[in-house]
Amino acid sequence: MTSVLRHRQALIDGEWADGGDGVIEVRSPHSGEVVGTMTRCTAAQADRAVQAAKSAFPQWRQVPLLDRVDLLYRAHAICGERNEAIARQISLEMGKTIRESREEMVEYACEHFRRAAEDVLRYRGQFLPSTQERTNNKRIVVSQEPAGVVAVITPWNFPVDIAAITICYALAIGNTVVWKPSEYAPLSSAMLADVFVDAGFPPGTVNMVTGEGTAGRAVAEHPGIDAIVFTGSTKTGQQIASSIGLKKRVLELGGNGPIIVRHDADLDRAADAAITGCFYLAGQCCTAAERLLVHESVRDDFVARLVTRASKLRVGDPLDDASDMGPLCNPGVLERTRRHVATAVAQGAKVVLGGTSSGLYYQPTVLVEVTGQMDIAREETFGPVAPVISFSSDEEAISIANETGYGLTAAMFTNDLRMAWHVAESLQHGTVMVNETTNYWDQLAPFGGRGKSGTGRELSSWMLDALTDTKQIVFDIG
Ligand code: NDP
Repeated sequence: MTSVLRHRQALIDGEWADGGDGVIEVRSPHSGEVVGTMTRCTAAQADRAVQAAKSAFPQWRQVPLLDRVDLLYRAHAICGERNEAIARQISLEMGKTIRESREEMVEYACEHFRRAAEDVLRYRGQFLPSTQERTNNKRIVVSQEPAGVVAVITPWNFPVDIAAITICYALAIGNTVVWKPSEYAPLSSAMLADVFVDAGFPPGTVNMVTGEGTAGRAVAEHPGIDAIVFTGSTKTGQQIASSIGLKKRVLELGGNGPIIVRHDADLDRAADAAITGCFYLAGQCCTAAERLLVHESVRDDFVARLVTRASKLRVGDPLDDASDMGPLCNPGVLERTRRHVATAVAQGAKVVLGGTSSGLYYQPTVLVEVTGQMDIAREETFGPVAPVISFSSDEEAISIANETGYGLTAAMFTNDLRMAWHVAESLQHGTVMVNETTNYWDQLAPFGGRGKSGTGRELSSWMLDALTDTKQIVFDIG
């Protein structure tokens, strides 16, 4: 074991404190060993954190924009020095490979400090003409005001990246934050909290309360919270949506992304995209390719190329640089993956690769003869499985792609530009990729889903829109 056993505390009003409800043991999904402990907060501590954020807000929103930006740049520099250490902690506690964790830190998480600093400097209001009366007497200014205290509730699959997006943009625009990280990645989360503290963000601007769902619920339902950015499962998102009343919200929920492979597709590119879509992070991405819809005329050829590639993936210790795929994060994910595969097989699907597990490791798996009625096609699996569904017409592919009610990311492979437009406009997803994998992200483009995949958009100016209230001020100068 390469870790040092560590205990971390919650961050409330600038102080690190134990939570009063025992500890959460953090286990390595690779070895099963306890690698650290995290304090578990009570609802009273969640309340204290919200009160601290509320008290800090009036002063923080008055801090000059350039000073807030300076703090973000200082945090960017500090985070950059710690990227490797945080990456190793992510791999240790939630099991993604070290190469994937480095990507999370270097390409995504650390750069959110810089991107938020740049975006907030260029975030603009509007000046509107007078159109209600036949005079030129009115002047209407539209401004974006910080929402107040933002609850940030995050999952384990990108534990630092996803949190950093909202926290950096929330602070940049003048909000304060209460963050509830996942119980499966609390130690790497605490290392992100360290960055804010060490950069000099004032006490109360960033608070972190830890614990399982109960701590998250106490934060989300707290009347002192003005806006919530929740990223997690559709089930939890639905619970939160029904319990937070009229609070502003962004809900980034589960996905069930299709990749459509048309008869005219470049099959090598499509197979490469399916490998990234199905097996990156062992399939534990909201944007994972959960269904491969392949035209019947090219299905066998495509599956052969996919299996050749998938069988070369090296599955092993996430901290080994050579590993392409690590274990699943926790027993719940393993159990659902097994159940979806077993049910599909019982209903007629065939395993052409994988289908076995050992500990929390599940082998890269390819299934054929999958139909749209099977659970594996209708629900989010979040495991390393490539379920192949055949189709015979574009209309049928569009219909299958849209029928699950999830609408996060979809992709299509084709060489027909006209059909690409047609299919892209027919897919009811927040993002549609043409000749690119579902797991492609641009950090300055709007990200989010429809239907069961949630509501609202994050990243860049869309994140700032979500974290602010729009105000119009009308002047009469007549
Ligand atoms: P969960 O919904 O289980 O948990 C997400 C967070 O919510 C955790 O911090 C969890 O705490 C907390 N939580 C649990 N119950 C409640 C509650 N009642 N009230 C408030 N907070 C609560 O999701 P996972 O952590 O398992 O993450 C995987 C899911 O996240 C997948 O469905 C994936 O698709 C989705 N996801 C979506 C993304 C998107 O942008 N659309 C991006 C990444 C992931 P704890 O775990 O400590 O109990």
